[in-house]
Amino acid sequence: MKSLNEQDSKIFDLLGKETNRQNLNLELIASENFTSKAVMEAQGSVLTNKYAEGYPGKRYYGGCEFVDVVEDIARDRAKKLYNADWVNVQPHSGASANAAVYLAFMKPGETLLGFDLSHGGHLTHGSHVNFSGIYFKPEFYGVEKETGRLDYDKIREKAKAVQPKMISIGASAYSRDYDYEAFRSIADEVGAYLWMDMAHTAGLIATGHLKSPLPHAHVVTTTTHKTLRGPRGGMILIGKDGENTLGVVAPKSGRVKNWSEVLDSAVFPGTQGGPLMHVIAAKAVAYGEALQPDFKDYQTQVIANAKAMADEFMAMGYDIVSGGTDNHLILIDLRNKGVTGKLAEEALGHAAITVNKNMVPFDTESPFVTSGIRIGSPAMTTRGFGEEEFRTVAKLIDRVIQDPENETVHAKVTQEVEALCEQFPLYDFITA
Ligand SMILES: *Cc1c(COP(=O)(O)O)cnc(C)c1O
Repeated sequence: MKSLNEQDSKIFDLLGKETNRQNLNLELIASENFTSKAVMEAQGSVLTNKYAEGYPGKRYYGGCEFVDVVEDIARDRAKKLYNADWVNVQPHSGASANAAVYLAFMKPGETLLGFDLSHGGHLTHGSHVNFSGIYFKPEFYGVEKETGRLDYDKIREKAKAVQPKMISIGASAYSRDYDYEAFRSIADEVGAYLWMDMAHTAGLIATGHLKSPLPHAHVVTTTTHKTLRGPRGGMILIGKDGENTLGVVAPKSGRVKNWSEVLDSAVFPGTQGGPLMHVIAAKAVAYGEALQPDFKDYQTQVIANAKAMADEFMAMGYDIVSGGTDNHLILIDLRNKGVTGKLAEEALGHAAITVNKNMVPFDTESPFVTSGIRIGSPAMTTRGFGEEEFRTVAKLIDRVIQDPENETVHAKVTQEVEALCEQFPLYDFITA
């Protein structure tokens, strides 16, 4: 058989270019990371050929004896990682995991109370352009203008007023931890289900750097490729299994199904077909890595680096939303610097620094322009950056933002970025 190079030189060349880009850019997008060689080997394997609709021991296809073991290993490791009664490792992505949760817990037209998208929430928590906002009735809670943080008394008031069927927690640009007990007491008070989407912080929760939602939420979803550093994918977990209170019964026996059964059905056949067994193998590898002691050291460094960067920015007069961070990301409100998020993202892109523009709470610009940028530490921490490097990164970003349209600055910063990146090689086994 031909290698990729022989078969398709166009795609081969583009992979080379992307490898180079990843090597020589400062990757600061908070939702990205670099997986291990082992994860990529598992993902780029023969398991991509296998159909395995169903679950281990209960498949709709033959030849599943090995993939059954792979999926069982993935599930066992994930359960251990989060101290969970049950997990489903089949969701193709975070959005797919969330779709299954909606199918299990909500009927069309029912109300969801979620984290305001313009304050850091996610599209799948009720955006009008997403199925969650099209099929369900979204209501939102947000952060306080003065503190940039959630006020749980206000969330309780809102929940009482809108009487949601489900309350969701989780965001893409919130740099503080959550009070899950408070959320659960609010949910109980209004008779709602509580769902935590820990897509961004799953790695930090696995190592105990952030509180675990599993003892408090009815259901938890996540991606596997952000701080958890696995392949692109999703997962659903429950802390404590037991009879569902949705009234879902098994068709023949009339027995009330457990939560785990309701959610398994919501993934397959509810919202997905065949699982991506190559990705599930890579998830198993990533969970195995996350159970090792050095993963904890990694997450300690992720937080230390985000804090060092936040401190450096604040010392230079930048406005960090909520005044700092508890996790892997910071959100910078650039309004006092006279630069929009769009201009900052573009200018930094010219200087080999990859960030994303981001709405800040109470933003006065449109989502296409925005007043802020979001910066995360997970990817460059994987490459070996420590606090000193992240302080240097903050200074490089500042030089670009001070003079965003100056091409000489772009060129000089690019040189410094490349010199820094070369000290911390990525994927030395791949040649571009
Ligand atoms: C990233 C993210 C998702 C979506 O994950 P995809 O894998 O991109 O579908 C869902 N929820 C939150 C909170 C996220 O940050």
